[in-house]
Amino acid sequence: MAMKNYKYLIVGGGMTADAAVRGIRERDHSGTIAVLSGEKHPPYDRPPLSKKLWTGKPLDSIWRKTEQAKADLFLDTRAVNGDVAGKTIADSRGETYRYEKLLLATGGTPRRLPFAPDDVIYFRTLDDYQRLRALADRKSGFIVIGGGFIGSEIAAALAINGCKVTMVFPDSGIGARIYPPKLSEFLNGYFRGKGVDVLAGEKVRALEKTGARFTVNTESGKALSADAVVAGIGIEPEVGLAKSLGLKLDNGIVVDEQLRAAAPDIFAAGDVANVYSPALGMRRRVEHEDNANTMGAMAGRNMAGASEKYEHLPYFYSDLFDLGYEAVGEFGAGMDIVEDWKEPFRQGVVYYLKGGRVRGVLLWNTWGQVDAARHLIAAKDTFSAAGLAGRIHE
Ligand code: NAP
Repeated sequence: MAMKNYKYLIVGGGMTADAAVRGIRERDHSGTIAVLSGEKHPPYDRPPLSKKLWTGKPLDSIWRKTEQAKADLFLDTRAVNGDVAGKTIADSRGETYRYEKLLLATGGTPRRLPFAPDDVIYFRTLDDYQRLRALADRKSGFIVIGGGFIGSEIAAALAINGCKVTMVFPDSGIGARIYPPKLSEFLNGYFRGKGVDVLAGEKVRALEKTGARFTVNTESGKALSADAVVAGIGIEPEVGLAKSLGLKLDNGIVVDEQLRAAAPDIFAAGDVANVYSPALGMRRRVEHEDNANTMGAMAGRNMAGASEKYEHLPYFYSDLFDLGYEAVGEFGAGMDIVEDWKEPFRQGVVYYLKGGRVRGVLLWNTWGQVDAARHLIAAKDTFSAAGLAGRIHE
Protein backbone atom coordinates (compact mmCIF):
# COMPACT_ATOMS: atom_id res chain seq x y z
CA MET A 1 0.00 0.00 0.00
CA ALA A 2 1.25 3.49 -0.76
CA MET A 3 2.40 5.61 2.13
CA LYS A 4 0.10 8.51 3.02
CA ASN A 5 1.92 11.78 3.69
CA TYR A 6 0.55 14.37 6.11
CA LYS A 7 2.08 17.46 7.62
CA TYR A 8 0.12 16.85 10.83
CA LEU A 9 -1.01 13.46 12.12
CA ILE A 10 -3.31 13.23 15.14
CA VAL A 11 -3.92 9.89 16.83
CA GLY A 12 -7.21 9.88 18.73
CA GLY A 13 -10.61 11.18 17.71
CA GLY A 14 -11.98 12.90 20.80
CA MET A 15 -12.39 16.51 21.89
CA THR A 16 -8.63 16.98 22.24
CA ALA A 17 -8.09 15.90 18.62
CA ASP A 18 -10.76 18.27 17.34
CA ALA A 19 -9.34 21.14 19.39
CA ALA A 20 -5.87 20.39 18.00
CA VAL A 21 -7.12 20.51 14.41
CA ARG A 22 -8.56 23.94 15.11
CA GLY A 23 -5.37 25.02 16.88
CA ILE A 24 -3.33 24.03 13.83
CA ARG A 25 -5.72 25.93 11.58
CA GLU A 26 -5.24 29.12 13.64
CA ARG A 27 -1.68 29.20 12.28
CA ASP A 28 -1.62 27.02 9.19
CA HIS A 29 -4.56 27.18 6.79
CA SER A 30 -3.38 24.67 4.23
CA GLY A 31 -1.05 22.10 5.86
CA THR A 32 -2.54 18.61 5.48
CA ILE A 33 -4.04 17.05 8.63
CA ALA A 34 -5.07 13.43 9.28
CA VAL A 35 -6.98 12.22 12.33
CA LEU A 36 -6.93 8.49 13.16
CA SER A 37 -9.79 7.47 15.44
CA GLY A 38 -10.74 4.08 16.79
CA GLU A 39 -14.35 5.24 17.02
CA LYS A 40 -16.70 4.93 14.09
CA HIS A 41 -18.11 8.42 14.76
CA PRO A 42 -16.33 11.68 13.99
CA PRO A 43 -15.32 13.77 17.04
CA TYR A 44 -18.15 14.83 19.33
CA ASP A 45 -18.62 16.58 22.67
CA ARG A 46 -18.50 13.98 25.44
CA PRO A 47 -20.05 15.84 28.44
CA PRO A 48 -23.62 15.82 27.01
CA LEU A 49 -23.57 11.99 26.92
CA SER A 50 -24.02 11.89 30.69
CA LYS A 51 -25.74 15.29 31.10
CA LYS A 52 -27.80 17.35 28.66
CA LEU A 53 -28.79 14.60 26.20
CA TRP A 54 -30.86 13.21 29.08
CA THR A 55 -32.74 16.46 29.63
CA GLY A 56 -33.80 17.24 26.08
CA LYS A 57 -30.72 18.47 24.22
CA PRO A 58 -30.82 16.96 20.70
CA LEU A 59 -28.24 14.36 19.72
CA ASP A 60 -27.14 16.23 16.61
CA SER A 61 -25.89 19.13 18.80
CA ILE A 62 -22.84 17.11 19.89
CA TRP A 63 -20.86 17.00 16.62
CA ARG A 64 -17.61 18.99 16.51
CA LYS A 65 -17.62 19.11 12.67
CA THR A 66 -13.87 18.53 12.55
CA GLU A 67 -13.97 17.69 8.84
CA GLN A 68 -15.04 21.27 8.09
CA ALA A 69 -11.59 22.42 9.26
CA LYS A 70 -10.05 20.57 6.31
CA ALA A 71 -8.90 17.45 8.14
CA ASP A 72 -9.03 13.91 6.75
CA LEU A 73 -10.76 11.66 9.29
CA PHE A 74 -9.88 7.96 9.28
CA LEU A 75 -12.55 6.40 11.49
CA ASP A 76 -12.75 2.91 12.98
CA THR A 77 -8.98 2.97 12.51
CA ARG A 78 -6.47 2.42 15.29
CA ALA A 79 -2.83 3.43 15.17
CA VAL A 80 -0.91 0.33 16.22
CA ASN A 81 2.78 1.16 16.02
CA GLY A 82 5.26 3.47 14.43
CA ASP A 83 8.82 4.47 13.74
CA VAL A 84 10.06 7.56 15.56
CA ALA A 85 13.20 7.96 13.43
CA GLY A 86 11.35 7.46 10.12
CA LYS A 87 8.37 9.53 11.37
CA THR A 88 5.73 7.00 10.39
CA ILE A 89 2.67 5.48 12.06
CA ALA A 90 0.98 2.23 10.96
CA ASP A 91 -2.73 1.63 11.46
CA SER A 92 -4.93 -1.42 12.06
CA ARG A 93 -5.89 -1.50 8.36
CA GLY A 94 -2.33 -1.88 7.15
CA GLU A 95 -1.87 1.75 6.05
CA THR A 96 1.23 3.74 6.90
CA TYR A 97 1.27 7.50 7.43
CA ARG A 98 4.31 9.73 7.28
CA TYR A 99 4.08 12.87 9.43
CA GLU A 100 6.07 15.99 10.10
CA LYS A 101 4.35 16.58 13.48
CA LEU A 102 2.52 13.93 15.47
CA LEU A 103 0.00 14.43 18.30
CA LEU A 104 -1.04 11.63 20.62
CA ALA A 105 -4.53 12.44 21.89
CA THR A 106 -5.37 8.87 22.80
CA GLY A 107 -7.36 9.63 25.99
CA GLY A 108 -8.24 6.79 28.32
CA THR A 109 -9.89 3.39 28.40
CA PRO A 110 -12.52 2.53 31.01
CA ARG A 111 -11.41 0.22 33.80
CA ARG A 112 -13.31 -3.06 33.71
CA LEU A 113 -14.52 -5.38 36.42
CA PRO A 114 -12.46 -8.55 35.92
CA PHE A 115 -15.25 -10.99 36.70
CA ALA A 116 -18.16 -9.34 34.87
CA PRO A 117 -20.09 -10.41 31.75
CA ASP A 118 -19.20 -8.60 28.51
CA ASP A 119 -22.39 -6.61 28.21
CA VAL A 120 -21.85 -4.45 31.27
CA ILE A 121 -21.84 -0.87 29.90
CA TYR A 122 -18.55 0.86 30.79
CA PHE A 123 -19.93 4.25 29.94
CA ARG A 124 -17.63 6.44 27.84
CA THR A 125 -18.62 6.72 24.16
CA LEU A 126 -21.54 7.73 21.96
CA ASP A 127 -22.16 4.03 21.26
CA ASP A 128 -22.42 3.47 25.04
CA TYR A 129 -24.90 6.36 25.24
CA GLN A 130 -27.02 4.90 22.46
CA ARG A 131 -27.11 1.45 24.07
CA LEU A 132 -28.04 2.97 27.42
CA ARG A 133 -30.64 5.28 25.91
CA ALA A 134 -32.42 2.37 24.20
CA LEU A 135 -32.55 0.50 27.53
CA ALA A 136 -33.74 3.62 29.38
CA ASP A 137 -36.47 4.27 26.81
CA ARG A 138 -37.82 0.79 27.66
CA LYS A 139 -37.82 1.85 31.35
CA SER A 140 -35.34 -0.85 32.29
CA GLY A 141 -34.07 -1.20 35.85
CA PHE A 142 -30.37 -0.40 36.34
CA ILE A 143 -27.51 -1.09 38.69
CA VAL A 144 -24.90 1.68 38.48
CA ILE A 145 -21.47 0.71 39.83
CA GLY A 146 -19.23 3.61 40.91
CA GLY A 147 -19.98 6.86 42.70
CA GLY A 148 -17.62 9.16 40.79
CA PHE A 149 -18.43 11.40 37.81
CA ILE A 150 -19.99 8.80 35.57
CA GLY A 151 -21.83 6.96 38.36
CA SER A 152 -23.39 10.11 39.81
CA GLU A 153 -24.30 11.77 36.49
CA ILE A 154 -25.67 8.60 34.88
CA ALA A 155 -27.67 7.60 37.97
CA ALA A 156 -29.26 11.07 37.99
CA ALA A 157 -29.89 10.97 34.21
CA LEU A 158 -31.59 7.57 34.40
CA ALA A 159 -33.71 8.58 37.41
CA ILE A 160 -34.80 11.79 35.65
CA ASN A 161 -35.97 9.56 32.80
CA GLY A 162 -38.15 7.47 35.09
CA CYS A 163 -35.89 4.42 35.47
CA LYS A 164 -35.34 2.45 38.65
CA VAL A 165 -31.69 2.85 39.68
CA THR A 166 -29.53 1.27 42.37
CA MET A 167 -26.07 2.78 42.90
CA VAL A 168 -23.29 0.67 44.41
CA PHE A 169 -19.86 2.04 45.30
CA PRO A 170 -17.11 1.41 47.87
CA ASP A 171 -16.80 4.97 49.24
CA SER A 172 -18.95 6.35 52.07
CA GLY A 173 -20.75 8.80 49.80
CA ILE A 174 -21.35 10.05 46.27
CA GLY A 175 -18.30 11.90 44.96
CA ALA A 176 -16.52 11.34 48.27
CA ARG A 177 -13.12 11.67 46.64
CA ILE A 178 -13.84 15.30 45.81
CA TYR A 179 -16.66 16.68 47.94
CA PRO A 180 -16.31 17.26 51.69
CA PRO A 181 -17.76 14.42 53.83
CA LYS A 182 -20.96 16.23 54.86
CA LEU A 183 -21.73 17.30 51.29
CA SER A 184 -21.13 13.77 50.05
CA GLU A 185 -23.44 12.45 52.80
CA PHE A 186 -26.05 15.05 51.82
CA LEU A 187 -25.84 13.82 48.21
CA ASN A 188 -26.59 10.24 49.32
CA GLY A 189 -29.81 11.51 50.92
CA TYR A 190 -30.58 13.85 48.03
CA PHE A 191 -30.28 11.02 45.47
CA ARG A 192 -32.44 8.80 47.69
CA GLY A 193 -35.03 11.57 47.75
CA LYS A 194 -35.06 11.41 43.95
CA GLY A 195 -35.83 7.68 44.06
CA VAL A 196 -32.28 6.31 43.61
CA ASP A 197 -31.40 3.40 45.89
CA VAL A 198 -27.91 4.37 47.15
CA LEU A 199 -25.74 1.54 48.52
CA ALA A 200 -22.65 3.33 49.80
CA GLY A 201 -19.65 1.52 51.29
CA GLU A 202 -20.48 -1.59 49.25
CA LYS A 203 -18.00 -3.52 47.13
CA VAL A 204 -19.20 -5.77 44.32
CA ARG A 205 -18.23 -9.39 45.06
CA ALA A 206 -19.84 -11.09 42.06
CA LEU A 207 -21.67 -10.02 38.92
CA GLU A 208 -23.46 -12.53 36.72
CA LYS A 209 -26.01 -12.65 33.95
CA THR A 210 -28.72 -15.30 33.88
CA GLY A 211 -31.01 -15.09 30.88
CA ALA A 212 -31.75 -11.40 30.43
CA ARG A 213 -31.17 -10.45 34.10
CA PHE A 214 -28.01 -9.31 35.84
CA THR A 215 -27.34 -10.22 39.45
CA VAL A 216 -24.89 -8.34 41.65
CA ASN A 217 -23.73 -9.71 45.00
CA THR A 218 -22.05 -7.30 47.36
CA GLU A 219 -19.40 -8.11 49.93
CA SER A 220 -21.84 -7.39 52.78
CA GLY A 221 -24.14 -10.10 51.39
CA LYS A 222 -26.75 -8.10 49.47
CA ALA A 223 -28.14 -9.59 46.25
CA LEU A 224 -29.39 -7.10 43.63
CA SER A 225 -30.94 -7.77 40.28
CA ALA A 226 -31.58 -5.54 37.25
CA ASP A 227 -32.05 -5.46 33.47
CA ALA A 228 -28.74 -3.68 32.87
CA VAL A 229 -25.50 -2.73 34.61
CA VAL A 230 -23.56 0.49 34.00
CA ALA A 231 -20.08 0.89 35.44
CA GLY A 232 -18.01 4.07 35.87
CA ILE A 233 -15.00 2.94 37.84
CA GLY A 234 -12.39 5.23 36.33
CA ILE A 235 -10.16 5.18 33.26
CA GLU A 236 -6.60 4.17 32.48
CA PRO A 237 -4.59 6.46 30.19
CA GLU A 238 -4.25 4.84 26.75
CA VAL A 239 -0.47 4.66 26.40
CA GLY A 240 0.01 1.52 24.28
CA LEU A 241 1.16 3.38 21.17
CA ALA A 242 3.26 5.84 23.18
CA LYS A 243 4.99 2.90 24.86
CA SER A 244 5.74 1.22 21.54
CA LEU A 245 7.26 4.52 20.34
CA GLY A 246 9.53 4.56 23.39
CA LEU A 247 8.13 7.80 24.82
CA LYS A 248 8.59 8.65 28.47
CA LEU A 249 5.61 7.44 30.51
CA ASP A 250 4.60 8.16 34.09
CA ASN A 251 0.87 8.17 34.81
CA GLY A 252 0.29 8.94 31.12
CA ILE A 253 2.62 10.46 28.54
CA VAL A 254 5.09 12.88 30.11
CA VAL A 255 5.15 16.19 28.20
CA ASP A 256 7.09 19.41 28.70
CA GLU A 257 5.54 22.84 29.19
CA GLN A 258 5.05 23.17 25.42
CA LEU A 259 3.31 19.76 25.34
CA ARG A 260 6.17 17.95 23.60
CA ALA A 261 6.71 14.29 24.45
CA ALA A 262 10.16 12.76 24.76
CA ALA A 263 10.83 12.36 20.99
CA PRO A 264 11.30 14.88 18.18
CA ASP A 265 8.12 16.42 16.75
CA ILE A 266 5.79 14.32 18.92
CA PHE A 267 3.25 16.05 21.18
CA ALA A 268 0.61 14.73 23.57
CA ALA A 269 -2.47 16.40 25.04
CA GLY A 270 -5.76 15.77 26.84
CA ASP A 271 -6.60 12.93 29.26
CA VAL A 272 -3.42 11.04 28.36
CA ALA A 273 -0.90 13.86 28.95
CA ASN A 274 0.99 14.36 32.19
CA VAL A 275 2.05 18.01 32.38
CA TYR A 276 3.52 20.31 35.05
CA SER A 277 1.04 22.80 36.48
CA PRO A 278 2.88 25.99 37.49
CA ALA A 279 -0.11 27.18 39.57
CA LEU A 280 -0.10 23.97 41.62
CA GLY A 281 3.65 23.29 41.48
CA MET A 282 3.23 19.66 40.47
CA ARG A 283 2.79 17.35 37.51
CA ARG A 284 -0.65 15.90 36.93
CA ARG A 285 -3.02 14.38 34.40
CA VAL A 286 -6.49 15.92 34.05
CA GLU A 287 -9.50 14.02 32.67
CA HIS A 288 -11.95 16.86 31.98
CA GLU A 289 -13.37 18.83 29.04
CA ASP A 290 -11.72 22.24 29.58
CA ASN A 291 -8.32 20.57 29.77
CA ALA A 292 -9.02 18.62 26.55
CA ASN A 293 -10.10 21.73 24.68
CA THR A 294 -7.46 24.15 25.95
CA MET A 295 -4.53 21.75 25.86
CA GLY A 296 -5.57 20.27 22.50
CA ALA A 297 -5.77 23.73 20.90
CA MET A 298 -2.38 24.73 22.29
CA ALA A 299 -0.78 21.48 21.12
CA GLY A 300 -2.15 22.23 17.65
CA ARG A 301 -0.73 25.76 17.62
CA ASN A 302 2.63 24.51 18.89
CA MET A 303 2.70 21.79 16.21
CA ALA A 304 2.18 24.61 13.71
CA GLY A 305 5.16 26.59 14.99
CA ALA A 306 4.02 28.42 18.14
CA SER A 307 5.92 27.96 21.39
CA GLU A 308 3.20 28.53 23.98
CA LYS A 309 3.48 27.20 27.51
CA TYR A 310 0.58 25.34 29.13
CA GLU A 311 -0.01 27.41 32.25
CA HIS A 312 -3.80 27.10 32.18
CA LEU A 313 -5.52 25.79 35.32
CA PRO A 314 -8.48 23.88 33.84
CA TYR A 315 -11.88 23.80 35.49
CA PHE A 316 -14.46 21.03 35.54
CA TYR A 317 -18.18 20.94 36.28
CA SER A 318 -21.06 18.60 36.88
CA ASP A 319 -24.85 18.60 36.94
CA LEU A 320 -26.78 16.36 39.33
CA PHE A 321 -30.57 16.82 39.14
CA ASP A 322 -30.97 20.53 39.98
CA LEU A 323 -27.58 20.87 41.67
CA GLY A 324 -24.53 21.95 39.75
CA TYR A 325 -21.05 23.34 40.22
CA GLU A 326 -17.77 24.41 38.69
CA ALA A 327 -14.44 23.57 40.29
CA VAL A 328 -10.79 24.35 39.76
CA GLY A 329 -7.51 23.09 41.22
CA GLU A 330 -6.62 20.15 43.43
CA PHE A 331 -9.07 18.18 45.57
CA GLY A 332 -8.58 15.22 47.77
CA ALA A 333 -8.47 13.47 51.05
CA GLY A 334 -6.04 14.81 53.60
CA MET A 335 -6.45 18.46 52.57
CA ASP A 336 -7.79 21.11 54.95
CA ILE A 337 -11.30 22.05 53.91
CA VAL A 338 -13.03 25.37 54.59
CA GLU A 339 -16.74 25.37 53.78
CA ASP A 340 -18.46 28.72 53.24
CA TRP A 341 -22.15 27.97 52.67
CA LYS A 342 -24.71 30.61 51.84
CA GLU A 343 -27.29 27.85 52.14
CA PRO A 344 -25.90 24.50 53.35
CA PHE A 345 -25.27 22.09 50.45
CA ARG A 346 -27.36 24.23 48.08
CA GLN A 347 -25.13 27.22 47.44
CA GLY A 348 -21.67 28.07 48.61
CA VAL A 349 -17.92 27.84 48.11
CA VAL A 350 -15.60 25.14 49.46
CA TYR A 351 -11.86 25.81 49.70
CA TYR A 352 -9.23 23.03 49.77
CA LEU A 353 -5.95 24.01 51.41
CA LYS A 354 -2.51 22.57 52.03
CA GLY A 355 -0.21 24.36 54.46
CA GLY A 356 -2.60 27.32 54.56
CA ARG A 357 -2.52 27.80 50.78
CA VAL A 358 -5.62 27.44 48.65
CA ARG A 359 -5.12 24.57 46.15
CA GLY A 360 -8.70 23.91 45.02
CA VAL A 361 -12.04 25.73 44.97
CA LEU A 362 -15.46 24.08 44.58
CA LEU A 363 -18.07 26.60 43.40
CA TRP A 364 -21.32 24.89 44.39
CA ASN A 365 -24.23 26.50 42.53
CA THR A 366 -21.98 29.56 42.44
CA TRP A 367 -21.43 30.76 38.89
CA GLY A 368 -19.03 33.00 37.01
CA GLN A 369 -16.27 32.74 39.66
CA VAL A 370 -13.82 30.33 38.03
CA ASP A 371 -11.29 33.08 37.27
CA ALA A 372 -11.54 34.43 40.82
CA ALA A 373 -10.79 30.91 42.06
CA ARG A 374 -7.84 30.59 39.67
CA HIS A 375 -6.38 33.87 40.97
CA LEU A 376 -6.71 32.76 44.58
CA ILE A 377 -4.85 29.52 43.81
CA ALA A 378 -2.15 31.24 41.72
CA ALA A 379 -1.58 33.94 44.38
CA LYS A 380 -0.08 31.32 46.72
CA ASP A 381 -0.96 33.45 49.78
CA THR A 382 -1.65 31.87 53.15
CA PHE A 383 -5.22 32.00 54.45
CA SER A 384 -7.10 31.20 57.64
CA ALA A 385 -10.69 29.91 57.60
CA ALA A 386 -11.90 33.33 58.76
CA GLY A 387 -9.92 35.02 55.99
CA LEU A 388 -11.64 32.92 53.35
CA ALA A 389 -15.23 33.48 54.52
CA GLY A 390 -17.06 35.47 51.85
CA ARG A 391 -13.89 35.73 49.75
CA ILE A 392 -15.53 34.36 46.59
CA HIS A 393 -19.24 34.79 46.03
CA GLU A 394 -21.64 35.27 43.15
P1 NAP B 1 -14.11 8.50 38.64
O1 NAP B 1 -14.79 9.80 38.74
O2 NAP B 1 -12.67 8.38 38.90
O3 NAP B 1 -14.93 7.53 39.63
C1 NAP B 1 -14.60 6.19 39.80
C2 NAP B 1 -15.51 5.60 40.86
O4 NAP B 1 -15.46 4.19 40.78
C3 NAP B 1 -15.17 5.95 42.29
O5 NAP B 1 -16.39 6.14 43.00
C4 NAP B 1 -14.46 4.72 42.78
O6 NAP B 1 -14.63 4.52 44.16
C5 NAP B 1 -15.24 3.66 42.08
N1 NAP B 1 -14.53 2.39 41.90
C6 NAP B 1 -13.23 2.21 41.56
N2 NAP B 1 -12.97 0.88 41.44
C7 NAP B 1 -14.14 0.24 41.72
C8 NAP B 1 -14.53 -1.11 41.76
N3 NAP B 1 -13.67 -2.11 41.48
N4 NAP B 1 -15.81 -1.39 42.07
C9 NAP B 1 -16.70 -0.40 42.32
N5 NAP B 1 -16.39 0.89 42.30
C10 NAP B 1 -15.12 1.22 42.00
O7 NAP B 1 -14.31 7.87 37.17
P2 NAP B 1 -15.61 7.71 36.27
O8 NAP B 1 -16.80 8.16 36.99
O9 NAP B 1 -15.55 6.32 35.75
O10 NAP B 1 -15.35 8.72 35.08
C11 NAP B 1 -14.48 8.34 34.03
C12 NAP B 1 -13.76 9.54 33.47
O11 NAP B 1 -14.64 10.44 32.84
C13 NAP B 1 -13.03 10.33 34.52
O12 NAP B 1 -11.84 10.68 33.91
C14 NAP B 1 -13.87 11.54 34.73
O13 NAP B 1 -13.10 12.65 35.12
C15 NAP B 1 -14.48 11.74 33.37
N6 NAP B 1 -15.81 12.37 33.49
C16 NAP B 1 -15.86 13.66 33.88
C17 NAP B 1 -17.08 14.27 34.05
C18 NAP B 1 -17.12 15.70 34.47
O14 NAP B 1 -16.10 16.38 34.42
N7 NAP B 1 -18.28 16.18 34.89
C19 NAP B 1 -18.25 13.55 33.84
C20 NAP B 1 -18.17 12.24 33.44
C21 NAP B 1 -16.93 11.64 33.28
P3 NAP B 1 -13.39 4.71 45.18
O15 NAP B 1 -13.10 6.17 45.16
O16 NAP B 1 -13.91 4.22 46.47
O17 NAP B 1 -12.25 3.91 44.64
